[in-house]
Amino acid sequence: MELIDGNRIAAEIVSDLRAEVAALPGRPPCLALVRVGDDPASVSYVKNKEKTAAAIGIAGRILLPPATISSDELFALIDQLNGDPAVDGILVQSPLPPHLDELAVFRRIAPAKDVDGLGTVNLGKLAQDDDTGFVSCTPAGIMELLARSGVRLAGRHVVVIGRSLLVGKPVALLALQKRAGANATVTVCHSQTRGLPALARQADVLIAAIGRAEFVTADMVKPGAVVIDVGINRVADPTRKAGYRLVGDVHFPSVAPLAGKITPVPGGVGPMTVAMLMKNTLKAYRQQHGA
Ligand code: NAP
Repeated sequence: MELIDGNRIAAEIVSDLRAEVAALPGRPPCLALVRVGDDPASVSYVKNKEKTAAAIGIAGRILLPPATISSDELFALIDQLNGDPAVDGILVQSPLPPHLDELAVFRRIAPAKDVDGLGTVNLGKLAQDDDTGFVSCTPAGIMELLARSGVRLAGRHVVVIGRSLLVGKPVALLALQKRAGANATVTVCHSQTRGLPALARQADVLIAAIGRAEFVTADMVKPGAVVIDVGINRVADPTRKAGYRLVGDVHFPSVAPLAGKITPVPGGVGPMTVAMLMKNTLKAYRQQHGA
């Protein structure tokens, strides 16, 4: 079994981006990070993104509207960022409070600044194999992890568990694309799938994006398969100072010994998501400045 080290691969990308940003003429790229309310996981995700942006030389503009913000007020804030020439990329951290329509918020972001790639235009471009758009960061990070770990997808069977707009659906489309680095045969499973363990066992590459702690067990994995664990789940652990620990959607202790390659949680997909957000921000800057 080989561990796919997301921390190391993300650090390489961050270091390449730092060099690219340092060589840009004019002002640095600017990423607006909008966090509504103070959901604890979102607080830590946004802090992490702010820190990585600073390390690369990308200016972070942090906006922290209260959880009580109305749809109209949030739309007005996004419109203002859309129209601000000093802002290149916009990310609205999910989840949003339940009174806000997340999809409507993602759609409001101007396509040219939609660095999270969740708006209609960018998801459409993904389905059209058009690489001028922005691919949402976690799926893009998964593809990058696979490519940089020497995993070839062409003709192989990728099974994705989860069909969310954020992860499952876009990563399935990416693996399916007709281009070098993709060309996989793809199966997507979800909560209504019948015979999921048998389908998962057919996977050469198994991608788990379910949001259920340690859902994937050894009986669902073909020996030698590549296992990508997207899940980030908090489970109570009184021995930890925080009172919890993070586990993935894969039961690592039983799956790791039989996997060919596997990502750990934490330290697998998570750091890649942040690195790809920065990559998308630089792409947005270049597109808007012709740089
Ligand atoms: P989500 O929106 O809740 O989607 C979960 C998907 O899993 C849904 O498609 C759901 O099916 C499916 N599912 C749930 N229970 C199932 C079951 N018993 N059998 C089969 N399928 C089942 O979650 P998400 O946003 O995709 O996130 C998934 C996980 O990845 C979470 O742990 C999240 O924290 C993590 N995540 C990590 C990163 C990162 O950077 N590492 C980024 C994003 C998310 P239905 O569609 O039928 O409901």
